Amino acid sequence: PPAMNNPSTAQQPLCVHVKGLAADYDILTGQGLLQRGAEHIIPHMKGGHGVIITDENVAPLHLETLLESFQAHAKAHPKAKPVRLDVLTVPAGERSKSLSRYGHVMDSLLALGIDRRTTILALGGGVVGDLAGFVAATALRGLPFIQLPTTLLSQVDSSVGGKTGLNAAAGKNLIGAFWQPQLVLADSDTLATLPERELKAGYGEIVKSGLAGDKALFEWCEANGAGVVAGDPTLLAEAVRRTCTFKARIVSADEHERNETTGRALLNLGHTFGHAFETAQHHEGALLHGEAVALGLCQAMALAVLRGSATEEEKQRVTRHLAQTGLPTTAQELPGDHGAPSIEVLLHHMTRDKKARDGKAAFVVPHGLGASQLERTVTTAEIRQVLLATGC
Ligand code: NAD
Ligand code: MG
Repeated sequence: PPAMNNPSTAQQPLCVHVKGLAADYDILTGQGLLQRGAEHIIPHMKGGHGVIITDENVAPLHLETLLESFQAHAKAHPKAKPVRLDVLTVPAGERSKSLSRYGHVMDSLLALGIDRRTTILALGGGVVGDLAGFVAATALRGLPFIQLPTTLLSQVDSSVGGKTGLNAAAGKNLIGAFWQPQLVLADSDTLATLPERELKAGYGEIVKSGLAGDKALFEWCEANGAGVVAGDPTLLAEAVRRTCTFKARIVSADEHERNETTGRALLNLGHTFGHAFETAQHHEGALLHGEAVALGLCQAMALAVLRGSATEEEKQRVTRHLAQTGLPTTAQELPGDHGAPSIEVLLHHMTRDKKARDGKAAFVVPHGLGASQLERTVTTAEIRQVLLATGC
């Protein structure tokens, strides 16, 4: 098949290993992975049946590539056991992470005649990954699961670490399970069709990872970030590999988020601020998560300067880099036309954040660039000062 002649598919994918409590798994990064999807996936399938869960945006763009890889594989290996694939497509967007959509998908899945060896394949962004992962965790009390993330955010964040779940009326991601994949295939070729704004938002989480605990990653971002957000496939693949290596280290040491102040908690850098802005905005989709995180990173740096754990110059380095890559660094720059939410509203949301305890907000506070720690001693006066200084 012509796929074999494509130089990008000829190179070996780079592999990041994640250590799990029950089993380990690999994240393959690079280009051309979906084109040779069957080759990578079949060795991880326990039976001869897979169900692809995808969304209405991703299906017309990337499903054919994946399905064709299975057809090509069957032709090349006529004696191999045939693989039967079914496809379930959900509407695109956060609303698919609902109990009602979950119910529909579960009923459709059970109607396909699945058994305990049926593999669930999630082809799409974080919404598809979280929904399909929770379906995999709960169908027949647990099915093998493979992640095929197609957004930058899902390649560097949501497909790694085993958190799956749905939104509830009371808030985001309140229903869920830890369910580890057998394999993650992060094909940077799929990112070519991603809207630029989604790419930039995903980049916000890469910068977050560097600042939270990997100084070399942050410095790599300063040198290469412009090329990453411009969509350079080689740089995108390297950004994904570096960020997954960092996240794999964190989640391998703290798979179930039991470590209070270090461990997985650090991945929430910029998120207490960012979530408050996301919750305060009324129009779904007006503000992307990664955009809120970018502002949150600037605010976390401002907080660190106030508390003496970072310098003004370090804060400016972060703000400058995010601004250069087209991400918001003040509340006024946030997309949407409703203006910055009031400080009172933001404070209210921060004290109700999932990390808050006894009505007191928790913040991951940077210690210089590339180290951080969860703190529960941040005062309301400090938060007000930071919000005022960042455009609220
Ligand atoms: P998403 O899945 O909604 O994808 C964003 C948009 O891009 C959607 O419209 C989607 O259809 C489209 N899309 C996806 N891939 C595309 C492609 N290759 N080309 C063109 N369009 C494409 O959003 P996301 O940003 O990937 O993920 C956000 C979700 O991830 C949130 O629900 C969040 O809670 C969750 N999340 C989970 C974890 C975790 O650890 N499980 C971590 C971070 C975020
Ligand atoms: Mg996040």
